[in-house]
This record gives sequence, C-alpha cells and structure tokens, in this order.
Amino acid sequence: MGQGQHILNDKSDRPHSQKPQSKNVDKTHRLYSFEMIPEYLQSNPYIRTGYRYGLTFKGCLISLLYLNNESVNVWSHVIGAGLFIYFFFRDIYMGNALPLLISSVDYYVVLFYTFSVIICMVCSVAFHLFGCMSSRAFADCLKLDLCGIGFGILGCYLCGIHISFECYRTWRLRYETIIIGIIFIAVIYYVQGIKQYITQNIHVTLFVTISLLGILPGLHWYYLHGGWSNQHVQEFFPKLFILYGILGIGALAYLTKFPERFFPGYFDILLASHQIWHFSVLAAFIWWYQNGIELLQYYVINPCNA
Ligand SMILES: [Zn+2]
Repeated sequence: MGQGQHILNDKSDRPHSQKPQSKNVDKTHRLYSFEMIPEYLQSNPYIRTGYRYGLTFKGCLISLLYLNNESVNVWSHVIGAGLFIYFFFRDIYMGNALPLLISSVDYYVVLFYTFSVIICMVCSVAFHLFGCMSSRAFADCLKLDLCGIGFGILGCYLCGIHISFECYRTWRLRYETIIIGIIFIAVIYYVQGIKQYITQNIHVTLFVTISLLGILPGLHWYYLHGGWSNQHVQEFFPKLFILYGILGIGALAYLTKFPERFFPGYFDILLASHQIWHFSVLAAFIWWYQNGIELLQYYVINPCNA
C-alpha cells in the first residue's frame, strides 16, 4: 500500500553510491542504506538500512526469502490475501456463513467485497515487492497499488451500505452511486498525477477523507433506525467507529512516521510505521467482513417488514 514522497524522472534510477552495505553477499541479496538508493526510493529518511535496489523480477521474488525493509510489508499482505481466499472458500464457496442469503444480490456484494480485499492486498504486495526494480516499475506498481486501495475502499463502502441499508433501498442506491463516482474520480486523479510528484500526505489525506465520508451514511442510518433507543442500533452502530479506530491508528502511524521518526534506524526491519499501517488495514478489512456477515445474518432472522 502506497508510501512515500516520490520524484519520478529519468535520472532517478541512478543510485547515490554503488557500494553495497555488506561485502560478502550474493549480488541479488545486497541491501543498501538510505544514501545509496536512487531518489524515487527515498520515501522515508528514518528507515536507514535494508533497502533492495535494481533487482530483476526473479531477484524480487527471491527477496521474499530473506529479510529486508519490505519483508513485513510484503508478507503482511500476502497473508492478508491468503486469509480472504480462505474466507471465500469457507463462507462463500462452501456456504458456511451464508446458508440463507436474503437475495442473490447480497451474495454478490459479499463476493465483491472479498475480491476487492484480495485485489487490494495483491496490488500492495506487487508494489512493495517489485517497486525496487526501476523508477518505471516503481511508478507502474504505485499506480497498481493506488487502484488496489481504491478497490478496497469501494468494497468496504458497497458491502457496508448494501447490507446496512437493507430496509431503505432508495437511499442505498443513492449512496452506492455517489461512492462509486467519488472513488472512480479519486483513482483517475492519482494515477494521472503520478508522473510528476506525489507526496504521501496528499495521497493518504484524500483516501482518509473519502473513508471518513462514511460517517455521513452512518449517521443517516442511525437516524433512520430511530437512534440509540433501538437495540439494533446499539449493537451495530459502535462497530463503525471501531473500524475508524483501527484505521485511525494505522493512518496516524503512516502520516507521522511513528515510531521510526524518534529512533531512526531502529525500526528498519520490524515495527516501522508503514508496517503498522499494513496491519491496521488488514485488521479493518477482517473486522468489516465479520460484521458484514453478522449483519446479513441479522436481516435473515429479522426481515425488514417484520
Ligand atoms: Zn504499503
């Protein structure tokens, strides 16, 4: 999932120094320090070592097997994709969690959510694994990553709105149309703007803003269901804020580069801010999936006309 302040141009493939960090390692296993890598890879000055650079496609795949400063970023989302493939087989393909879907549209909404998360995870893995090949590969993988984030957010919105507005279908259609439009425009805007200059803060701030817009249909849902006096509202409304809490921890780490900002070089391999961001995104996806299934099951037992 995208990171960094990146300047992409033809000269940016040049490393600042060719000297590898360690002398007695195979060429494909070389790791570089921050000063040695080209400008487009220098997104976080507080991560001092453990950089891969100039690898081939095969070299990048081999880098899955040795520790570098992208290992946790890559593996966290490989595991995330694997987990949602497992959810797909367990809940959708085998039908364990969804034996009595209200309508077939609900089935496809959950299916879409599962695939949007898998796409988001896979695009993120591609960016973190192959972005070090060249500035061109970096830009292409970053576009892919941004599209993946857009897909992930879209999946969360469509799944959440579709299931929770089960009893208010006109509003459901309105919100679904609006969010598809907003995310489509945001992704086009990002992908177009990548060639010049992208700062992580514009990057994340817009996606965070789009995510926060979910509070509006959330409040509307609260109002439509009669407010806090409704037990159904008491049960499900706080879950939206737990989702924001989980994402908030990751976004805060991302934007402030905490903890490595205060201890440069100490979190190069483990517990860096971008890794916290990755785990918070994965936790949010899992949380939203489980609550979506729970809410679907609730409407099976308590249909709208009852
Ligand atoms: Zn990432």
